[in-house]
Amino acid sequence: MVRKKKKKKRKSTGSSLIKYGDYTLDDADDDQEDLDSSRGGMIFKWKAGKNIIRVIPPLPGYKWRLRVYEHLINVPGIGWVSFVCPRLMAKEFCPGCNKRDKLLRSKNKVDIKFAKDLRPRRNNYANAILRKEEEGGPRVINFGPQIEEQLIEMRKDPDLGGNFVNPIKGFDIVVRKKGEKLNTEYKVYPVGKGRSTPLHEDATIMNAWIENQHALERFAVVPTADQIEAKMRGEEIDDEEAEDRGSRKRKRSKKSIDEELDEIEDADWEDYEEEEEDDEDYDEEE
Ligand SMILES: [Zn+2]
Repeated sequence: MVRKKKKKKRKSTGSSLIKYGDYTLDDADDDQEDLDSSRGGMIFKWKAGKNIIRVIPPLPGYKWRLRVYEHLINVPGIGWVSFVCPRLMAKEFCPGCNKRDKLLRSKNKVDIKFAKDLRPRRNNYANAILRKEEEGGPRVINFGPQIEEQLIEMRKDPDLGGNFVNPIKGFDIVVRKKGEKLNTEYKVYPVGKGRSTPLHEDATIMNAWIENQHALERFAVVPTADQIEAKMRGEEIDDEEAEDRGSRKRKRSKKSIDEELDEIEDADWEDYEEEEEDDEDYDEEE
């Protein structure tokens, strides 16, 4: 190809170029998805339409799901940044809640709106098998109040299926995702009206799934103020690196978190797939 180019240097490129392939935006999207899934592939992203899952029973001494309070903030140029709320999870200083407290004292409508967006949101992590990707073994599902409340109702009401975590007498669950962004709705109902099916027919596989489920505590690790600042600057936080506090002494941002938050008050909140307005749990717990 190089030789050819030299010879025909002066010819118009349009007619002399050999056939070549392309790297389309669709390809780039696929690549991005691959990258994202290899990075955080453990966590399943709900797909539009039906998602059929089977919740894996917890190991003894654990709950079937881990509940975490997180802030989710849209930082311009960086995107959605989430971090575990130090105040609600560890009674420690939280830059997100601190900013929110200040804004709530304001009489300005924009401030109040931003305060609302800054609230810590209830988030849950659980282990499940995705029936369409069983070969992947246990995966982490992530869900907010909308799905959580339906699952609780299901557990309490035998007519809705009852105990879905039981590996023998339990049942598969459909989580149907409809709509997008602010209008995303999740409908949760049992497969086959709650008819019992085993987690897996083969006891060896079933045991392996239960034993090899993901430890969920990692999702509740409370970040330091430095780590939150780094996230707001768009830096990936490596768990191992984070433990090495020495490396975190490097140049701190000239901006305080407060200043960073000030800048994003006008951020575009429409991108967020918000589940529902569900504040009541946040404000009282401290
Ligand atoms: Zn907080």
